[in-house]
Amino acid sequence: MKSGWVDRDAEAIVAEGAKSGIDRDLALRIYTTRLLGRDPKLVLHGGGNTSLKEVMRDRLGVDVEVLRVKATGADMAMIDLAGLPAVRLSPLRKLRALGEIGDDELVGIERSSLIDPAAANPSVEIMLHAFLPHKFVDHTHATAVLSVIDQPDGDKKCAEVFGGRLAFVPYVMPGFGLAKKAIEVFERAKPSDGLILSKHGIVTYGESAREAYERMIEMVSRAEDFIARRRKATAAPARRGTAEVAQVAPIVRGACSEKDATAEGAWRRLVLEFRGGEAARNFVNAKDLDRFGRLGVITPDHTIRTKNWPLVLQPPDPAKLGDFARVAHEAAGQFAARYHRYFEQHNARVGHIKHELDPLPRVVLVPGLGLFGLGRTKRDAEIAADIAEAWVEGVSDAEAVGRFESISEADMFDCEYWPLEQAKLGTRKEPPLAGQIAAVTGAGGAIGAATAKAFAAAGAEVALLDVNFAAAREQAKAIGPSALPVVCDVTSAASVRAAFDAVASAFGGVDIVVSNAGAAWQGRIGEVDEDVMRKSFELNFYGHQRVAQAAVKIMLAQNTGGCLLFNVSKQAVNPGPNFGPYGIPKAAELALMRQYALDYGADGIRANAVNADRIRSGLLTADMIASRSKARGLSEKDYMSGNLLGREVTADDVAQAFLHQALALKTTADVTTVDGGNIAAAMR
Ligand SMILES: [Zn+2]
Repeated sequence: MKSGWVDRDAEAIVAEGAKSGIDRDLALRIYTTRLLGRDPKLVLHGGGNTSLKEVMRDRLGVDVEVLRVKATGADMAMIDLAGLPAVRLSPLRKLRALGEIGDDELVGIERSSLIDPAAANPSVEIMLHAFLPHKFVDHTHATAVLSVIDQPDGDKKCAEVFGGRLAFVPYVMPGFGLAKKAIEVFERAKPSDGLILSKHGIVTYGESAREAYERMIEMVSRAEDFIARRRKATAAPARRGTAEVAQVAPIVRGACSEKDATAEGAWRRLVLEFRGGEAARNFVNAKDLDRFGRLGVITPDHTIRTKNWPLVLQPPDPAKLGDFARVAHEAAGQFAARYHRYFEQHNARVGHIKHELDPLPRVVLVPGLGLFGLGRTKRDAEIAADIAEAWVEGVSDAEAVGRFESISEADMFDCEYWPLEQAKLGTRKEPPLAGQIAAVTGAGGAIGAATAKAFAAAGAEVALLDVNFAAAREQAKAIGPSALPVVCDVTSAASVRAAFDAVASAFGGVDIVVSNAGAAWQGRIGEVDEDVMRKSFELNFYGHQRVAQAAVKIMLAQNTGGCLLFNVSKQAVNPGPNFGPYGIPKAAELALMRQYALDYGADGIRANAVNADRIRSGLLTADMIASRSKARGLSEKDYMSGNLLGREVTADDVAQAFLHQALALKTTADVTTVDGGNIAAAMR
């Protein structure tokens, strides 16, 4: 590992900081915190922390000694001034005299010692930083260091690798107890460079930002070299005949879901993120995989993202996916039962004060394929996958230099259910479609884009399918980084298959499909060319059938129900003159919706449709509105609001109708009319 320190960059951040009153030490503290944070081999997703001790003027103009320490859960790679709240140091130091202190009391003291009372909560490891005397203190969970110290003889390996420059602190749960133990070890051993926190991480310190940082890099490099000299280059044999991610993911996702007891027909689902790089594949193909799966985390705070253990499955044979699904469901059931026992046992130990988290796995290992990270959002799934990859590396290298050993199950439980750890995940109320995946066709157009946006706002992960990829990409970009644009020509069976494979590979499956893509053809029905009729049927009927079939295949593999939503338009119910080529396939689409509702109701798959009319879109352009209103002798406004309510209907209104149908778990074979009122188009 190389130092990322660049004089020019350091001086630039010092000069930039000076403009807003940030002193040199603080600017360099920000600089090296970012350097540490940007390397996933040092810290991941809010892990690790840094601090600086300095004198600053408080609000009353008095000079006080403060500890600036990373805010809890803050991302070091993007740290700024707000991510380093300043806390008065002297009250913190006095706490050392206390034998024990409760979490709430400690947080209360920290908060009342903040210079800015509105600042973020400091890191859970604040006391470790407060007790150590050094100006700069850096703490990471470097993967290579963990491989060396997560061992039954971690203390010996620490001495061998770091040669006394780092002292060894036996495992204590992060927090006040660890800080007291660490300062005790420090004062006895007086190590020159820092501390090893057993089965947890590494601390380095220094009198300058650069010194503390470069000591970290040097010590981590020593661990890397130690591993490199011992690593056996034994790639596990590749497995042949493994099923594809797109086929396996929906089965895994279904197995790792549970019925939501709060509403009949509701499921608690997770989103998946697949990783199939060489390291992950070697790991899942290893002969010791079952043992690895029972070993536990490489550092305590990973437990809140990955739980303590992954779910290990059997290799999926593409010719026997039914067997794979059956065994996967059994294994997931056993995982949940084991998690429940683990919770009960340790909750009893601490006096029944904890509330059980869901028992679903957050990491799934699939031999032959790779690993999945799981989470309630795509972002959470990515974080779980990143941590799982670090775990794979940490365990593989630990086994290369000795034998990996984690903290005890009781210690894992204490971290997993520590309120200060859980607080890192936030307490935001979940939106109604959290954990669900929605795919929308024609998502580059007005109604499709509005619908994708509405589903994303309701918490779903969304895939935007469109024959025009640039249009889908533009709409996806407006929604956010997790929204997935996919090229899809619904008139081609191969294109639809590939699009749904892409959705299943990216998110793990699909729960809601809005079949919306369409285009209008006209012609007086007795004279219209057969080619025109066929073209319209290809898009306006078969397009929906292909999309629905592809969706149902995934939904059946998941076995957690699903929802098909069709844009049938008013033409399906109330034909317009010379609109036969459009209206007739739309009427067939309405029948298609009813057939899906009938044939798949028993599988929990619902099918509904929206009958909308006169929406500004690719089918009703500004030019068309201008010419039609003129032909009728109306203003554009009167033309657009020519309905019983006298209100213009928008793409957002249609999107809300689809959203309503997605949420109405007891509604299937429904047609919702969104047209401002038109008796001739009313359902009867
Ligand atoms: Zn830590």
